[in-house]
Amino acid sequence: MDIRQTIKRQTLADLMAQSEILSGMMGPIREALLQPEKKKTAPTVTAAQLADMCGVDKAKIQWRLNKGDLPEGAIKGNRREWSMETARSWIREYRSECMRPAGAAGVVITVANFKGGVGKTTTAVVLAQGLARLGHRCLVLDLDPQGSATTLFGILPDTEVDSDQTASLLFYGKQPDIGYAIRKSYWPGIDIVCAATSLFGAEFALPARQAADPGFEFWRVLDRGLDQARMDYDVVIIDTPPSLSYVTINGLMAADGLLMPLPPSALDFASSCHFWDLFVDLCNELDKSKAGLTKTFEFVDVLLSRVEAGDVAGVVVRNWILEGYKDKVLPIEIPKTAVAAQASANFGTVYDMDRSEINAKTYARARVAYDRVCQLVEQQIRAVWANQLESMGA
Ligand code: ADP
Ligand code: MG
Repeated sequence: MDIRQTIKRQTLADLMAQSEILSGMMGPIREALLQPEKKKTAPTVTAAQLADMCGVDKAKIQWRLNKGDLPEGAIKGNRREWSMETARSWIREYRSECMRPAGAAGVVITVANFKGGVGKTTTAVVLAQGLARLGHRCLVLDLDPQGSATTLFGILPDTEVDSDQTASLLFYGKQPDIGYAIRKSYWPGIDIVCAATSLFGAEFALPARQAADPGFEFWRVLDRGLDQARMDYDVVIIDTPPSLSYVTINGLMAADGLLMPLPPSALDFASSCHFWDLFVDLCNELDKSKAGLTKTFEFVDVLLSRVEAGDVAGVVVRNWILEGYKDKVLPIEIPKTAVAAQASANFGTVYDMDRSEINAKTYARARVAYDRVCQLVEQQIRAVWANQLESMGA
């Protein structure tokens, strides 16, 4: 055989044709996955789940039902269920002491790590769903031009998101506030700012604006653009791309809390060390006139993610992580499970799945871990609110 036949040269025209084939595939794939409604719908809630979400006994739900003073839901088969929207109204009432107090601002949480594939997007979306289930109003801000979070919300970045529906206009300076890009999601209590490939343009626009105007602070554009969102939402969750891009820096600077998913692998650990090194250097570099930039995070959490059962090397690296990050490491690990992988193959997360679809044991393992992460993050959000009120002298 002629060895030259083992490779096939690709011209730009070939690659364009390839790209056209691939982008044409996503629409039908998604439609097939989202049958029969062709769009995502939030799961319904059973009485047991509702009791769990409200933090009360199932008998208490029954008592309130008998009393007839809360929405009664609908009977499906032999069980009663509520829409997520109705369930949230119960939850907000039952958990009123956990809700954002008057006068407190929404808490911005940025999910970041330079590495791809560590679970950033999954964590961001699960956190939004979990916090919305606990009654909070969430805004998800997708800052990754790949639009993975957008896709998990059932929206196709390439065909269903115009560039003026992403954070682009904010970074280009054409809009002062992110409000223009906010849209409702399929999940009650969650709104979203989508991402699309065009968001990558911000990586050129921000340095160009900085060069044109030395007084411009490229790193503060998003922080300023979220002022209104901090009033309108309890929590803003930002998903970032796997790089220290201009847009990621904006995500970090806007954050009250930072959440770093970190699998117990040596390369991921090493990369996380570089993350902090670069971040600290960058802050010292920015705004030199003021001898570096100060940045305070109300909390920084490291979340052990994609932890494989029985992974011997993982145990060693987990110890490095615990030694290096100490009490920043959340006291819960996200196991690597087929359930999580299967959920994303269906463009969703464990919170989107119906228990009946899957192996109950693996589902519970994944689900319990994510529930716990949401609880731990909620505690920290409430602590930030309490601090805010205290500093206002309330
Ligand atoms: P990132 O945003 O950091 O690139 P993702 O959240 O997109 O990471 O996750 C990368 C891949 O790993 C996705 O295919 C996702 O479904 C999968 N994944 C994430 N968390 C888990 C988990 N706990 N178990 C199994 N697969 C996971
Ligand atoms: Mg991602």
